[in-house]
Amino acid sequence: MPQPEIIVIGSGMGGATIAAALAPTGRQILILERGEHLRDSPEARDATAIFARGHFRPKESWLDGQGRAFNPGNFYFVGGNTKMYGAVLFRFREADFSLNSHMGGTSAGWPVSYDDFAPYYDRAEALYQVRGALGADPSEPPHAGDYPHPPVPDEPVIADLAQRLRASGLHPSPLPLGVDLDRWLAGGKTPWDGHPDTCGGKMDAESCGLAEALKYPNVTLQTGTHVDRLLADENGRITGLEVTRDGLGETLSAPVVVLAAGAVNTAALLLRSADARHPAGLANSSDQVGRNFMNHNASAMLALHPLRRNPSVYQKTLTVNDFYLDGGPYGEPLGNVQLLGKISAPILSSQSGIPLRIAKWITDRSIDLYLMSEDLPDVDSRVTVKDGQIRLDWRRSNWEAHLALVAKMKQVMRRAGFPVVLSKAFDRRTPSHQCGTARMGWDSTRSVTDIWGRTHDHENLFIADASVLPTSGAVNPSLTVAAHALRCADAISEGWT
Ligand SMILES: Cc1cc2nc3c(=O)[nH]c(=O)nc-3n(C[C@H](O)[C@H](O)[C@H](O)COP(=O)(O)OP(=O)(O)OC[C@H]3O[C@@H](n4cnc5c(N)ncnc54)[C@H](O)[C@@H]3O)c2cc1C
Repeated sequence: MPQPEIIVIGSGMGGATIAAALAPTGRQILILERGEHLRDSPEARDATAIFARGHFRPKESWLDGQGRAFNPGNFYFVGGNTKMYGAVLFRFREADFSLNSHMGGTSAGWPVSYDDFAPYYDRAEALYQVRGALGADPSEPPHAGDYPHPPVPDEPVIADLAQRLRASGLHPSPLPLGVDLDRWLAGGKTPWDGHPDTCGGKMDAESCGLAEALKYPNVTLQTGTHVDRLLADENGRITGLEVTRDGLGETLSAPVVVLAAGAVNTAALLLRSADARHPAGLANSSDQVGRNFMNHNASAMLALHPLRRNPSVYQKTLTVNDFYLDGGPYGEPLGNVQLLGKISAPILSSQSGIPLRIAKWITDRSIDLYLMSEDLPDVDSRVTVKDGQIRLDWRRSNWEAHLALVAKMKQVMRRAGFPVVLSKAFDRRTPSHQCGTARMGWDSTRSVTDIWGRTHDHENLFIADASVLPTSGAVNPSLTVAAHALRCADAISEGWT
């Protein structure tokens, strides 16, 4: 290929989206992705292979805060973590961008407002073909128009749940989703949440962002290429990328470099790129790279009536945001509730140790919910690199708000006619909603990038992934990552004109 003018590191939500937005500029764009295309296989719809055997998990271990090794649920494929995602494509709420008091402390908000992001959310929803409906969710921020597509239909048991919740005074609403239901189900009658997308049924970074980018002849995707280090000159310009492909090292370069390796790996790559002029790592004069790691506080909740069955296949179509903006003892935000993809016996058994036969009795009847509360930024919650290995010391915060949300939803579900309600927190090996490790801000001594994603220290290095999020909100992050990537693309192309 010709000499690249822009190199994008990572083909996940941020990388694929920024490549799609920059493609029409005609610039030569090279996307470097360490993973390969996810091909169809019998395991792709096999819950035991996915959840019990960890078939798609990486052959990699990270260290936790106590130095113990663990295998992270962080996925390296073309399309990044979105290949496994639940395809929930929420906008952050207006309040998420402002200063907020939480049960566990204060969140400083963002250096930009919802209004700054709104036009980019419109574009991101169009690119990822979001299915949804306005009007029912009390926390929904203003939209310029309707969702691009009508909502994914509720299965009968979920439609009945919506009625029951409405009767208890709540406002259930359709979950905004990037799923082509017919296409997904044609590949197998399974949920999509946590399952690999090998049929294009999910609107993910590969099937939407990357597919759009690769329509342009000036865009090239190079898979199996691990970026090991970035090189900077004495003026702070990024002059090269040391990469390994098929076991061989080489150095690539481009006038503009966009880092979109995901919040943990972006921080790790900047830290691994330390040199004599930048002993703390690149883009790190603020000492903020790797800090403020956030992941949501999340629990699964199974609610059941012993005499009613739940034959749903995919289930994941409903959300409840009645406790998103308030709900705490002094009106503090508690978080979001949404359906999980239908939990089956192998999933429950592998995650809880419950024998398969009992797990089957439970999951034949249960409605399965996902409860999510905000994790607040903390400078001591951080990614570091120890002897080349990633160390993730996640200091979870605002847990009291999460417990309050769980308690509230247990009451709600019992009132709605489910006498048995079980819950279990998601464990720390699942950094699904990782963010915050290179946050954006106005002040170069307290943040890593400006409000468009350009690093304060290196004028030709941009960050377009979840690392820049200053707070985690309490809804799924991908659409916000995509909206940020589109803003970042505008900053890059305007700098060129
Ligand atoms: C099981 C699961 C379910 C989820 N469900 C949802 C959901 O329903 N809704 C939602 O909004 N979010 C969901 N998420 C989170 C969502 O996937 C992430 O927020 C999103 O993918 C983040 O985008 P990103 O660009 O920051 O990182 P990623 O999408 O992870 O992309 C990073 C890319 O960089 C590549 N890479 C990493 N290091 C290097 C390197 N050194 N060299 C070259 N390439 C590299 C990776 O292979 C990857 O392709 C889920 C995540 C998981 C794991």
